[in-house]
Amino acid sequence: MYYVLKGHDFADETVSVLMIFYPNDKYIQTEDIAEGMTLVSSFDGASARAWLYSEGVLKAEGSERAESSQRSEIKRAVGLSIARAVNSIMDIPLPWGILTGVRPAKLISEGRSEGKGIDEITEHLHNKYLVSYEKLKLMSEVAEEERRIVEAGKGKIGLYIGIPFCPTRCLYCSFTSYPLKQYSSRVDSYIDCLIREMDFVKKYTDTKEIESIYIGGGTPTSLDEYQLDRLLSAVEERFILPSEFTVEAGRPDTLTREKLRILKEHNVTRISINPQTLNDKTLELIGREHTAAMFFNAFEMAREEGHDHINTDIILGLPGEGEEEVINTMEGLERLSPESITVHTLAVKRASRLRETIEKYAMTDALTMEKHIAISRQYTEKMGMRPYYMYRQKNMVGNFENVGYCKENCQCIYNVQIMEEKQSIIALGAGASTKTVDTRTDRIERIFNVKSVDDYITRIDEMLERKKALEKLL
Ligand code: SF4
Repeated sequence: MYYVLKGHDFADETVSVLMIFYPNDKYIQTEDIAEGMTLVSSFDGASARAWLYSEGVLKAEGSERAESSQRSEIKRAVGLSIARAVNSIMDIPLPWGILTGVRPAKLISEGRSEGKGIDEITEHLHNKYLVSYEKLKLMSEVAEEERRIVEAGKGKIGLYIGIPFCPTRCLYCSFTSYPLKQYSSRVDSYIDCLIREMDFVKKYTDTKEIESIYIGGGTPTSLDEYQLDRLLSAVEERFILPSEFTVEAGRPDTLTREKLRILKEHNVTRISINPQTLNDKTLELIGREHTAAMFFNAFEMAREEGHDHINTDIILGLPGEGEEEVINTMEGLERLSPESITVHTLAVKRASRLRETIEKYAMTDALTMEKHIAISRQYTEKMGMRPYYMYRQKNMVGNFENVGYCKENCQCIYNVQIMEEKQSIIALGAGASTKTVDTRTDRIERIFNVKSVDDYITRIDEMLERKKALEKLL
């Protein structure tokens, strides 16, 4: 699709709103109406207007008055005029209106810290950004949970350790993840480097209370038993373990009874076993190389080994899945009764195989996705769970959200702290990004590690050098 901007330069905002309606299009800015679809967006100093053309013929228009000359207000008016124009011919659900940010619940906490009441904030978001009342209720519920956790975690820090290896690459994956078969010879050197990073940051963590440790990836349980034991021993020897210590045991095909035992022996308090779906046909399609039966088996083994806090991740909107498949997945989870479930809606990421080959797949439309989300919500309620954290991504099918549900007192503190950005989190490993938050000013600074495993190993001294900035930032 082509777009023309007149009287403003909000190209990113224009594309973000267009992507709500046409997530898989490519967007090209031009000077004039082109062949195919063209959106013209203008701002005349008071009002934003949008016109949508197909083959040079005007198909729809929309407008919105800006209530001030602030950039953020002009941007909002531009976004809303575009949404009004396109929606007048597409008429799809706009659950989040024109909100495209990744952390919607933060808008509620920010409004509250400015002294606004919840009704005032939600009415503003409904009237000015077209956010539905259903999503506003979800935002408010989540914001309340997040506020409680953020308050309790003041002055503490988090620690993240990344293991960027997986057995195979999933169809939709855009993370830093390396297939284990090709990288197995580097794993020991990678752990050596992680241990050097742990040694280096210890002087900073010793002066703060660690609230949570999270080992994520990739799939940390891709490590063999010896490597997993070595990594967890290194963590235990260097840090005072907090009451929340999570390891992502994401892929059931990586789990053995011995690994589950090692996790327990090293005082891991929370694991995540992620089927994504409990339909074998879909699992094969998305390249997971495990079956639903393998997931059930891994989950039961984990229970037998004493893991009493298990999270499971699922994805709605996987190619070819309808209501029947979603119900099958939710019923399977209900039988197992995990402590928490994270319900994602599929995001078609730029770096994924799915993006490159999307025309091959039957994708879920927004109306169907809305029904699938409602089903997941009904089941989580039946399981006694409540939403406690939420985030959104670019290019999510139907522009919906990812929601973490949990039983009472089973929230993952780390997930909330990542979303709210009120706590410093020291991150180790390839592709890891350390974030420090100045609690007086809320100013965020980031220290990045290089992404590639090979670069991380060869440039470990440089990674340690970069972390010296923590001296002043923590
Ligand atoms: S398990 Fe997760 S990190 Fe690994 S390939 Fe699949 S989506 Fe990517």
